Amino acid sequence: MPTILLIEDERTFAETLRYNLEREGYAVLIADDGVVGLELARREQPNLIVLDIMLPRLDGFSICRILRQESDIPIMMLTARYDEVDRIAGLELGADDYIGKPFSLGEFLARVRAILRRSERQPRQVDREVLAAGALKIDTSSRRAWRESSELTLPQKEFDLLTCLIRNQGIVLSRDLLLERVWGTDFAGDSRTVDVHIRWLREKIELDPARPRYIQTVRGVGYRFEAPEEQP
Ligand code: CA
Repeated sequence: MPTILLIEDERTFAETLRYNLEREGYAVLIADDGVVGLELARREQPNLIVLDIMLPRLDGFSICRILRQESDIPIMMLTARYDEVDRIAGLELGADDYIGKPFSLGEFLARVRAILRRSERQPRQVDREVLAAGALKIDTSSRRAWRESSELTLPQKEFDLLTCLIRNQGIVLSRDLLLERVWGTDFAGDSRTVDVHIRWLREKIELDPARPRYIQTVRGVGYRFEAPEEQP
């Protein structure tokens, strides 16, 4: 059952929408201010967000902008019917659709169905991202990695570690930072975990793991990824 989050401070209006959406079989969450709305969006990851513009504490445009940096959840903005400015601003910020207030319930529900259908048909995902460095290439969307043309078999953490290193080429990353980025803040292990995984990674990506060219050890600090110009 798709979940729809309504971020709308006009309570009666929100309840009317809720009633009708639930009759269509959707689960509905309501937030009546912007800050709560943003929190709910992050926590519940709804299938669609219906977003009012004028909201207490945090306005709809800001919410839209923040959410777009974090996720692809479809967003439908509620604008004043003839307000072209709102509409354009909303679309520029990455809203998927807009509907002008006041609107008919029929039109609203049809739009909701259309957006959900669209997002189901083409699962929205992060754009394909291919990172290349020296003879290495990784595709973060399919989670595959290659050295020249041969595919590497990298377990999840090694893949995440390599991605993090490549994204931060030339920058020294401390063990603690890598631990946090790859294993998360609630991971109970220590920084030796990083060293062990770096060793495994070197065995796979370096021509000579004893004299690494990609992953440099920065004594007392951590590691730095460099893309060698050419592999010998
Ligand atoms: Ca409002």
